[in-house]
Amino acid sequence: MNHPDPQKLSINTATLRQQWDLRQIIEGCVRHEIRGISPWRDQVAALGLKETARLIRQHQLRVTGYCRGGMFPAVTAEQRQTRLNDNFRAVDEALELGAACLVLVVGGLPAGSKDLNGTRQQVRDGLSALLEYSRPLGMPLAIEPLHPMYAADRACVNTLKQANDLCDELGDEGLGIAVDLYHTWWDADFHREIARAGLKRLLAFHICDWLNPTQDMLEDRGMMGDGVIDIRGFRQAVEAQGYTGFHEVEIFSRLNWWTKDPDQVLLTCKARHLEHG
Ligand code: ZN
Repeated sequence: MNHPDPQKLSINTATLRQQWDLRQIIEGCVRHEIRGISPWRDQVAALGLKETARLIRQHQLRVTGYCRGGMFPAVTAEQRQTRLNDNFRAVDEALELGAACLVLVVGGLPAGSKDLNGTRQQVRDGLSALLEYSRPLGMPLAIEPLHPMYAADRACVNTLKQANDLCDELGDEGLGIAVDLYHTWWDADFHREIARAGLKRLLAFHICDWLNPTQDMLEDRGMMGDGVIDIRGFRQAVEAQGYTGFHEVEIFSRLNWWTKDPDQVLLTCKARHLEHG
């Protein structure tokens, strides 16, 4: 299909987090006939897990992912266990919300460490331990590779290849990948690794645009069509594997979209998804 299915649009709630609380975001999505939503844990905690689940059921929204778990590496074993326990709670919450998957930002170097390989081993071990908890409960875990500029502080899994390697090693049951174009569009191996992932591993698809120039490493993501990513081409590559899930708009934009009228932001997301998605 040339144009994306407008029914497949989902809003990651970070996109509106400066203007609206979670209740307002849910009501906004309903008002604009957007069927998918991906909430963050802090927003869910503020509104209350039960109330969030009730609103989502009431409005028949699809939770296309729950943001987020991960952050496995830490200096001490006790700290790693604390983080693992927190991930167990994230799995429980994702189940309560009926989320399609728990999205994992795996974590970067522990304080004071320069041991990137050791950190990646800690991620592998943390994932393995979390899978023992999540698999019997039936909550899929989606590894989200992050752009290498975040390797130190947020995620030392930076490529689709690394994510695929982890799936190979740990097994596909209840484990897959969240493909975020902001983090992966530059990768020369994108198409090969998407084909390698195949339908079974493609758990989520996040879209926005890469602005050139980018003014902030974290909070200057672009609206679809304002940057250099061939979003349509990448979406078609993912759908060529049989992916029929949502296209989740995730825009951190302190300089622009977080300052705008949130209803206008949602209208723009809908229009740009159709035009460029
Ligand atoms: Zn993402």
